[in-house]
Amino acid sequence: MSALPIRRLPDPVLKRPTRPVEQVDARVRRFVHALIQTMRHHPRCVGLAAPQVGSPLRIAVMDASAHPKARLSHGLLVLINPRVTVAEGAVVQREGCLSIPDLTANVRRGRRICLSALDQAGCPYELWLENFEAIVAQHEVDHLDGLLFLDRVANLGTDVFPRKTYL
Ligand SMILES: [Zn+2]
Repeated sequence: MSALPIRRLPDPVLKRPTRPVEQVDARVRRFVHALIQTMRHHPRCVGLAAPQVGSPLRIAVMDASAHPKARLSHGLLVLINPRVTVAEGAVVQREGCLSIPDLTANVRRGRRICLSALDQAGCPYELWLENFEAIVAQHEVDHLDGLLFLDRVANLGTDVFPRKTYL
């Protein structure tokens, strides 16, 4: 399967909140598979949300394990109808996004979160995530709420940077 095309800012689909998945059926699972393939297609891509490929569904995938900033990771996670139910502490880290290829920014997020979601079998799970992996999950859940990392930047004048090369 080939990778799906990535929507970029200012595509309006990126700013639209998604709708919950009512039933995790074969169609949803095929879409999850396509999202994973697309994420894997882009080196160093650690997460991808449905709006980034033009879908209105509340689905994202992530895999922080290959990234040098991830010391601890649960590997591949499928997030269907995800919610962050607890966020503790705060951490500021540089973030990037396939949908905003020319910029990175310092973004403040919860350092430790409890994530509640369905997996691709439709089974509910709850997971505590920390540091880099928690940041990735919050970034992806934001996409599903129609928010981009630029919406989280405290000071657009000092916290946003041009990206020299996108690897
Ligand atoms: Zn993103």
